Formats: sequence, structure tokens, C-alpha cells
Amino acid sequence: MAHIKQLDEQTIKQIAAGEVIERPASVVKELVENAIDAGASRIDVAVKQGGIAEIRVQDNGSGIPQNECLLAFQNHATSKLSRIDDLNNLLSMGFRGEALASIAAVSHVTLISKPSAQENAYMVELQGSEVLKQQACAANNGTQFIVRNLFYNVPARYKFLKKDNSEIQAITRIITEEALAAANIAFTLSNNDKIILQTPGNNDRLSVIQALFGTEVADKLLPIESDPNFTLTCSGYIGRADLTRKSRRMEYFFVNNRSFASNIILKAVEAAVQDYLMTRTFPVAFLFLDLPANLVDVNVHPRKLEVRFWNDNEVYRAVYHQVKNSFSAYLQAQATNYPP
Ligand code: ADP
Ligand code: MG
Repeated sequence: MAHIKQLDEQTIKQIAAGEVIERPASVVKELVENAIDAGASRIDVAVKQGGIAEIRVQDNGSGIPQNECLLAFQNHATSKLSRIDDLNNLLSMGFRGEALASIAAVSHVTLISKPSAQENAYMVELQGSEVLKQQACAANNGTQFIVRNLFYNVPARYKFLKKDNSEIQAITRIITEEALAAANIAFTLSNNDKIILQTPGNNDRLSVIQALFGTEVADKLLPIESDPNFTLTCSGYIGRADLTRKSRRMEYFFVNNRSFASNIILKAVEAAVQDYLMTRTFPVAFLFLDLPANLVDVNVHPRKLEVRFWNDNEVYRAVYHQVKNSFSAYLQAQATNYPP
């Protein structure tokens, strides 16, 4: 039997980093959410080889003051949360101050940032949490992160990176979700200098959907009408009966403007439309749920993929009725316009 010993600092950091940073797409998600939290109206994501070679995220948000650029990479360093009570009323995407520390622990990362009030931009470069370089430089207002050599010091993780192809798919999914949630932000995503997607940032959800999925999808959506009688209100779009898919890939759910997978929501939506759809087909749905922040716990999953609701039955009921009512309102209106 081996003896028990305390792990060294760097090993602890690498293990903890693995909880947050699983693959290139998780880096992209964390950096994009930081840009959203920084109030950016433009976010440009450019990756090479599906993010395995390089990930660049550039925003025009608030920037990070020169004297905080290194602090931002410290573990549990955050400007978004100061006490546990703040978790009950969270509006920002980030809150644990773990992402940048995790990314720095397992990659070579460069940060270039300039708050508008600061005369010069500042640049810091880290690898495996060690600072390699820091200096003033020239750059526009906002922040740019460049992440290279992801998992260079975690061979087990590196080995399991998928092919470029499946990584870019995962990244595309992330940016699609973020762009749907933040219709006021103009996103671009490119891989090996080829544009993959672009959204207008005009604050109109339907035109974001159109930019992402084309008019074939956008023209066949029914608006979901919010019913204020529920604690949880739904808005967004549900696909007409002539717009279905053979998988659940086009069911997008957002809770307080964050994308989540949720079995309860999924079941409620599918039950609400099942009478109208052919069997073994799935709806196209862009469903945005709004509820008071203290009725939902977003802090249950390290990568924030799951939520916990205060009452699953209430969530089911609210989603089911609002989606179903919107769907049947449309059918009724159609019947009135075109009597048999
Ligand atoms: P968290 O987002 O949970 O606070 P992060 O490790 O992701 O933790 O980021 C640490 C801090 O660095 C943030 O709280 C924020 O103050 C700053 N920061 C990170 N990215 C940006 C950005 N793009 N623009 C402005 N500030 C940023
Ligand atoms: Mg963050």
C-alpha cells in the first residue's frame, strides 16, 4: 500500500481545473460568459483546429484594470460575488472565480485588456499557472484571451480530446446557445479563419434564430405567449407541426437567460405538443423561462449544466400550459382564418 501524502499545489490545481475545463468548448464557454458579464456588445470567437490548437475570444466590454490582470487568474478571485448570500440573487453568468485559474493551470494563456479609462492596454501571459510575461501594449478597449496548448501538462486529458470536427461542433453548440440567450450581442465564430456563424446583435430573437438556422426554421415558428399567472413565465418560439426533427438537438432551453439541459422542461414541452406532431419526431423549440432567482439553484453542477428548481411539478405545469396554449391559440386562429 502507498502512504498517504498531501498533493502538491500544482497537482491540486490541475485536478480542480479538470472539473471546470473538460475540453476546448468549456474554455470557449467560460471566456464567452466572462465577456457577456463584462457588458460586451460584440464577441468574436476564433479557433484553430476546433480549439485544440488555439482559442481566441475578443470582446468590447469593460476590460480588466492593469493591476487586476494577474489577480483575475488567481483561484476564487471574482468581481461578481462577495458573500454566500449573493448566490441567491445572482445575475451574472460567472460567480465562482474558478474559470481563469483553471484555464491557466492547464494551458498557455495570454490576456490583453484595456478598460476605456486606462491609457494603454496591458498584457499578461501564463503557462501552467506561472507568469511568463507582463507588459503594456497597444489594443482596443475591451479584452482578448488567447488560449494555446490546452492540456499540454495533462496527458490523460489531451489524449481524450476528440477530433477537430467534434470539438468544433461542441463549440458551435455553445456559441449558438449563448447567442440565442444574448440577442443584444453580435457574435461571430470562425474555425481556421472560416466563418461558422454570425449573429446581428440587434436584440431581436427571431432574427438571431434566422441568422443561425435560416428562414426555413424562422418562418415556421410560433411565438410562445407568456402567462403571468404562473410564477415561471415562458417566452420564445415553438416549431409548427411541419417543422420537426428526428432528434432532440433543436430543443433549446434557457432559465433566466442561461442555457440548461432539463428533463422536466423537455418532458413538459414534448407532452404539450405531442398531439400535434407525428410519433418519433421532436419539436423545434427555443424556450426561455423566467423566474425569481431565489427559486432556482444554478450552483449544482461544476460546469453549470444543470439547475435545481424549487418545485419540479410547478415547473412542469407552467411550461406545459404556456406551450400548449400558444400552440392551440395558433391552430384556432388558423381555423378562423380558413373555415373548413
Ligand atoms: P468569475 O467569472 O466566476 O468571476 P473567472 O475566473 O471567469 O471568474 O474570472 C475572474 C474575474 O476576471 C471576473 O470576476 C472578472 O472580474 C474578470 N474578467 C474575466 N474575463 C473578463 C472579461 N472578458 N472582461 C472583463 N473582466 C473579465
Ligand atoms: Mg467566469
